[in-house]
Amino acid sequence: MPSGRNKPADTEKIKAMLAQNRGKIKLSRAACASCSLCAESCFLYRGNNRDPRYMPSYKWLSSLGTIYRKRGNVDRDFLEKTRENIWKNCVLCMRCYCPFGIDIPGLIGLARSIYRSQGIYGIYPYTTGAPEADNAGEDSGK
Ligand code: SF4
Ligand code: SF4
Repeated sequence: MPSGRNKPADTEKIKAMLAQNRGKIKLSRAACASCSLCAESCFLYRGNNRDPRYMPSYKWLSSLGTIYRKRGNVDRDFLEKTRENIWKNCVLCMRCYCPFGIDIPGLIGLARSIYRSQGIYGIYPYTTGAPEADNAGEDSGK
């Protein structure tokens, strides 16, 4: 039986969490016009040379949005590769503003819940470079 981060993703659990929040996710995806207006309201985006990976819309679309689009059929490799989008690149300060009323912090928070359900957390403290692979899965997330 595989253990730790070698375990496959529990897609049934992910699908159940998506089902509980389907309305909000579906509406938000449909409403997002990819206008990038939320970007300037994120201090991490402005403070990181306007790196597109820090755009609020990118953070939730590249994580939760993708999981939803794939109907929950994602593997642990995907979750590991995208974890930094919702932890390292966001502090959930709730300051991002979307003129279409999309609750970006709420969606990023929901993404974190789904990742946590798979034992995948943010890794603190973030210093330079990527998190140590050996730390993957430690409960140090918010
Ligand atoms: S989340 Fe809102 S502000 Fe950001 S790109 Fe989508 S529609 Fe535009
Ligand atoms: S909640 Fe995240 S994405 Fe929104 S402004 Fe704060 S750091 Fe940026």
